[in-house]
Amino acid sequence: MNNISENIDKITQKMKAAAVRAGRNEDDVTLVAVSKTKPVEDLMEAYNHGVRDFGENYVNELTDKIEKMPKDIRWHMIGHLQTNKVKYLAGKVFMIHSVDSVKLAKEISKESVKKDIVTKILCEINVAGEESKFGTSDLDANLEMIKEIALLPGIELCGLMTIAPYTPDAESNRQYFKTLHDFAYGRAREYIKGKPVLSMGMSGDYEVATEEGASYIRVGSSIFGERVYNK
Ligand SMILES: *Cc1c(COP(=O)(O)O)cnc(C)c1O
Repeated sequence: MNNISENIDKITQKMKAAAVRAGRNEDDVTLVAVSKTKPVEDLMEAYNHGVRDFGENYVNELTDKIEKMPKDIRWHMIGHLQTNKVKYLAGKVFMIHSVDSVKLAKEISKESVKKDIVTKILCEINVAGEESKFGTSDLDANLEMIKEIALLPGIELCGLMTIAPYTPDAESNRQYFKTLHDFAYGRAREYIKGKPVLSMGMSGDYEVATEEGASYIRVGSSIFGERVYNK
């Protein structure tokens, strides 16, 4: 038995408190419930408790859940995306957080133009430079990528996303959230449409990320419980 509704309440409270602590408006940050590997029943419990933003990592699972879930959900693609899967996603998701190459952005652009839509995207920056993650921590290289992506038709570059290292010490990730924030509001600012959206913070560090300016926190296991991959 899990307590999805209770977990959502607790996390929402802590998220809003963190925003206020940092002098932000409590409505400037949104909880994205990361539901990968979880059954539709669990997502429905979150939905019935008021959640409208869901994050998924795998294209097949995401399109399957889109079919089965209510239509007023904002779906966030947060997982690594292969170019050959883009055609299944374009037009179905609210935002793609995980754009980590010009090649991928070009494919999203192409599919969006074909469908006559505009797809909202975030560029994923590997701020901590972890080798296991996609993208690079080199901000000069990232700026070049952002400049190219910003020019593509059919996409709207709304901001930046990062996945910080897994650590029991959330404070140690503060530097990475700060770096992403300062980059978005600094050198990358002119290539981003509107106020920069920052997607950062997960179960272990969403309060710190919120203090450093997160627009979306992506929280999975603290809502739905640990994931089991090899059933
Ligand atoms: C799985 C995942 C999350 C959620 O992680 P938790 O630690 O379970 O909260 C957030 N962001 C991304 C990109 C993920 O893949």
